[in-house]
Amino acid sequence: MEGVVFSIQRFSIHDGPGIRTTVFLKGCSLRCFWCHNPEGMRPKPDIQFFPDRCIGCDECIKACQHGAAIKVDGVRVYDREKCVVCGECVDTCYAGARVLTGKYMSVDDVVSEVLQDRAFYETSNGGVTLSGGEPVLQPDFTYELLSRCKAEGLHTAIETCGNVRWEDEARMMPVTDLIMMDIKHMDSAKHRWATGAPNERILAAARKFAAMEQPIIFRIPVIPTVNDTVEEVAAIAAFVRELIEVRNQAGGDGEHTISLELLPFHRLAGDKYRSLDMDYRARDLITPTREHMQALTEAARSFAVETRSR
Ligand code: SF4
Ligand code: SF4
Repeated sequence: MEGVVFSIQRFSIHDGPGIRTTVFLKGCSLRCFWCHNPEGMRPKPDIQFFPDRCIGCDECIKACQHGAAIKVDGVRVYDREKCVVCGECVDTCYAGARVLTGKYMSVDDVVSEVLQDRAFYETSNGGVTLSGGEPVLQPDFTYELLSRCKAEGLHTAIETCGNVRWEDEARMMPVTDLIMMDIKHMDSAKHRWATGAPNERILAAARKFAAMEQPIIFRIPVIPTVNDTVEEVAAIAAFVRELIEVRNQAGGDGEHTISLELLPFHRLAGDKYRSLDMDYRARDLITPTREHMQALTEAARSFAVETRSR
């Protein structure tokens, strides 16, 4: 069983409790214009090209058998249409200007990498988190990986956008200890404008998760022009409050197992977008101030929802 993985981040402390290894899987069903992992959007491996790092050795041009790395009028050109992502140019580029993002990995390979830090998980109550992209878009691989990690006694978490087939989400639940899920906007038209997809399927998934047992951390990426007003955050907090009631009615402890986290926008991904020939529409947005994040946090807490912000 193989999946397309674009990063394995060890010693992660922001993707669930304790010290964790986060496995990032390629492919996403949303196109959030501020996404800080654009290399995770497309489902297959990609070449990233960083012209600023290029030292002009032309080794990539010699290596490329497909006419994708060429020179036109003395200018080095990378033709993404012709590129077959063979990786030959990456191996010859000592400057690191060409980067292969995403590779096919077996479940065995990922598990053995994850297990290297078992001692840290045990001392910190950490574990493994599957993120992306959207991990549930590779359902067989994700299920197998979560199952193997559970069988090893690890705490497991998934970060999901909820915009996938519910049958696939539900399949993960017996092998998932913690659900982390973004909610970006309660208005479906604005959600579509910001992410490329309406929100109905996402909100329906959130309701179904709430009726289950796993702890859930709902996350709001606070993005100027998208959802950074008190009213917009309050609308999401009111929805999360409803979900707490859903869990309580199902016999759970909604107040202590469902929480909210606010994550301020940071303009960090411009280089990545350029390296992938993607338009970075968030290039002019400004990070919300600490005071504004505090005001949004207070607004969410007024719905009796446990809320943290970074
Ligand atoms: S191999 Fe790397 S450094 Fe050399 S010309 Fe190609 S991109 Fe530039
Ligand atoms: S990945 Fe392969 S096909 Fe694409 S530019 Fe590099 S050498 Fe050429």
